[in-house]
Amino acid sequence: MSKVVKTHNKMLNATQGLKNIMGRHFLAIEQAYRDGKPTAWATSGSPVEMLYAMDVQPMLPENSATVSAAQKFSQNFIEIAETQGFSYDLCSYFKTNIGAVASNAGMIEGGTRKPTFMLSTDVICDTHVNWFEVQAERMNVPHFTLDVPHVVSNTNNRQLNYYKKYVAEQLYEFIDFMQEVTGYEYNEERAREVTENSWNLSMVWQDIYKLRKEVPCPISTRDTFGGLFPLFTMPGLKEPIKLYKRMYREAKQRVDNGIGALENENYRLLFEGIPFWHNLSFFSKLEKYGAIIVYEPYTYAFSKYMNPNVTKEMVLNSPIEAMSELMMSFWYVYDLETRIKKFEETVREYKIDGIIMHENLSCRPNSCGMYDLKRNLMEEYDIPSLIISSDMNDPRKHNAEQLSNQIESFIEILRQKKRV
Ligand code: SF4
Repeated sequence: MSKVVKTHNKMLNATQGLKNIMGRHFLAIEQAYRDGKPTAWATSGSPVEMLYAMDVQPMLPENSATVSAAQKFSQNFIEIAETQGFSYDLCSYFKTNIGAVASNAGMIEGGTRKPTFMLSTDVICDTHVNWFEVQAERMNVPHFTLDVPHVVSNTNNRQLNYYKKYVAEQLYEFIDFMQEVTGYEYNEERAREVTENSWNLSMVWQDIYKLRKEVPCPISTRDTFGGLFPLFTMPGLKEPIKLYKRMYREAKQRVDNGIGALENENYRLLFEGIPFWHNLSFFSKLEKYGAIIVYEPYTYAFSKYMNPNVTKEMVLNSPIEAMSELMMSFWYVYDLETRIKKFEETVREYKIDGIIMHENLSCRPNSCGMYDLKRNLMEEYDIPSLIISSDMNDPRKHNAEQLSNQIESFIEILRQKKRV
């Protein structure tokens, strides 16, 4: 049987400031409506910085969907979407948004107001584009979509250069689109300022992440799951940079004093996939085994500036070309070969004992290739890996008891392996 340990579950004090920052984001949305300022829905993976650069207030329906799930409203919204004919198997973020808008839900329940226009991209999934197509038509607002080709293991340099130009050209077209819809002029100086803030925000997040390599790990998912939100709702603003710097300083102090987020750190884990926002207690339950998640590709991916070809100088001097290159090198769109390599490197760097992969029943793009990934990691690198099935927003697809049994057995495997 696995040993059950006493825990103290330390969230960073600085992370408490997240509520204020996110609260201000929602207030900024309200203010934009009061001032008659343009607003836009944007999907994750899209260049939200360009909205800020044009003084357009962004709204991220995926972020709102997580709010719905955490407040236990998502199931109701999903069921409303299903009564409108959307399948049980479709993305539950999408259905949460359909139900929330249809119910006129307020922001606190995960509702999202009618925007001036919508921006989507297929960089992460096609659902994003189809989702906004449906809602743009229902709400009668313009919709701009960015088509981003996927770079795979046999993409050659000639193709890659063509892709970069193809995406950059669409980004220039997007500026024309925004100028036409809003009547505002694109201001390069403002764009540079926003880009610099976005770069700085990501760099502090990456610094925070590097501290997670330490044993004991100073930061748990209590800090990172919510901590990620400013990265995709507010890239380009100064405020979240201050919050991240506070998080970094506090975590660094822990490292300097040998303090971990968990009192007894026995097992270090990597969690692949989107968390179940409706049941975050799953993650705190891991702590009773002395298990701590020290890396999540999901929360790291949004730090965006990970491509070594994209320097700060490039970001500041050629923001569109830099954005084009970054959109094709997002952690979440790597081909299987690159993913295996990245996982293996991460396991070594972060001294990880095992991997838990969330096979997300409503997010097929995220789950695709997971069994091959697991097989390769186990057979080629002897890394214990477990696949669990659930859904990030639909509690009907979450079997807490089954997951708890799977985790117990997995911890037992890790325990046996550590003893060898
Ligand atoms: S959860 Fe998956 S399918 Fe849904 S919007 Fe996100 S990436 Fe796309």
